[in-house]
Amino acid sequence: MRNRKLFNFLFVFLLITFCFLAANAQQLTAIKAGKLVDPETGTTAVNQIILVENGRIKAVGAGLQIPAGAGVIDLSGSTVLPGLFDCHTHMCQTTVLENRDLFDMDMKQTTAFRAIWGVANARAMLESGFTTIRDVGNNGNYGDTALRRAIEQNIVPGPTMINAGRIIAPFGGQYHLQPERRALGEPEYLYADTRDEMRKAIRENIQFGALVIKIVVDDQRYIYSADDIKYIVDEARGAGLKVAAHCMTEQGARNAILGGVASIEHGFQMSDDALRLAKENNIVLVGTDFTEEAAGYLGPPAPFAKQFHAVFLDRLKRAYKIGVQMAYGTDTFADIEGHTRGTIAISFIDSFTEAGIPPRDILKIMTTNAAKLLGVEKQRGAIKVGMYADIIATPENPLDNINTLKKVSFVMKNGKVFKSADNQLKEKR
Ligand SMILES: [Zn+2]
Repeated sequence: MRNRKLFNFLFVFLLITFCFLAANAQQLTAIKAGKLVDPETGTTAVNQIILVENGRIKAVGAGLQIPAGAGVIDLSGSTVLPGLFDCHTHMCQTTVLENRDLFDMDMKQTTAFRAIWGVANARAMLESGFTTIRDVGNNGNYGDTALRRAIEQNIVPGPTMINAGRIIAPFGGQYHLQPERRALGEPEYLYADTRDEMRKAIRENIQFGALVIKIVVDDQRYIYSADDIKYIVDEARGAGLKVAAHCMTEQGARNAILGGVASIEHGFQMSDDALRLAKENNIVLVGTDFTEEAAGYLGPPAPFAKQFHAVFLDRLKRAYKIGVQMAYGTDTFADIEGHTRGTIAISFIDSFTEAGIPPRDILKIMTTNAAKLLGVEKQRGAIKVGMYADIIATPENPLDNINTLKKVSFVMKNGKVFKSADNQLKEKR
C-alpha cells in the first residue's frame, strides 16, 4: 500500500515535470540567409544559416546542419541583417492633419488614448524593420511605460523599447505658459530648476519605469548649465541610466557636452567647433535629420519645411565630415494619410543619402552605433551567437542600395516572427 502511494506520487510528479518541460520546450528555427550583412564591418557573407533558439542566436555560419524538427525560414533570395534602431521616437504623441499643435494635442488627449496611438505606432515601427527604439518622452502620464510593458509581456507587438518617462526641463519645458495656467506642463514635463528638484525628477522617473533620462536643455532663455547637466548625468548614472539632451542652441549643446550626456538630440545649430568637441568627448549626435517632406508633415508653410530641412542637412554633412559618432533618430509625430509611423521613420534615410553618406555608414548609424548608444550592444544590433534574434530581411543588399530598407519583407524580434511573406514559414522538416 505504501509502495503504491509512492508510485502514484512519483507518477504524478514525473507527469507534471514532463508537461512543464514540454510547455517550455522552445522551437528551434533555422533561417536560410542568401546574403547576410554585418553592419559593423560593412561586409556580406553568402548562403548562411542562422539557428535561433529561446529567442537568441544559437549558431550562425555557412553549411551548418539544420537539426531535425527545426522550423525553416527560407530567406535564400533575400538579404538578411540585424533589426534597425530609431533612437528618437515619441510613440504616444500623434498629431492629426487638422491640428499639428503639440501643445493642443497634449492638453486634449488623455494618456489612455495616446497609449492606444502608441500601440499602433509601435506596431508600425516593427513592420518597417525597427526592432529597437529609444522613446524620448512626451507620452502623457507614463503612457510610454505602459506601452513598453505591454510589448514586453507580448500583449501587443512592438520594438524593444528604452523609454524616458517624463521629460525633465527648466520651468516651462517646451511650452510657453501663461501665469494663470502654470500647471499645463502636467503631466508632460517634470520641471526641475534646483538640484533637489533634478534629483527628485530623476528618481520619480525611474520609479515609474524610465530606462533613460531625457532633458530639455535650452528651449527657454534660461538654460541648464554644464554643472546642472553634470549633476543630472551623475544622478542618473548612479541608477545605471544614460542621459539624452535636447539641444536647440550652440550654447545648449556645449553645456550638454561638458556635462557628459550620452547623446545630443537635434543639435542642428551646432558649429563645427561644437561638433569637434562632441567627437572628442565621445558624445553621440542623434540628429533627427528631417527630410523636406517630413518637415512638411509638421504643418508649417512650405518655405519653412525647405529651410528647416536645409539647416538639418548642412549640419548632417558637417557632422559626418568631422566624424562625430551618429545614431539614427527621427522625432516624427505626425499622422499622415498613406504613411505609418514606420514608413515616415525609414524615409529619414533620404537625408543621409542626400548628405552624401555611403550606405555602409548609414547602416552602421542605424544599428551598431545605435546599439552602443542605448547600451544594448552586447544583446542587440548584430547577428552573432548569444545575441537576441532581432533579424530583418530586404529584397536587395542595403550596402548596394540603402533604399531597399524601405521594403523590409521579414521581421523577427526576440526570435519571434512578426512579418513574413506567407510562404516563408515552412512546415517542420
Ligand atoms: Zn523629440
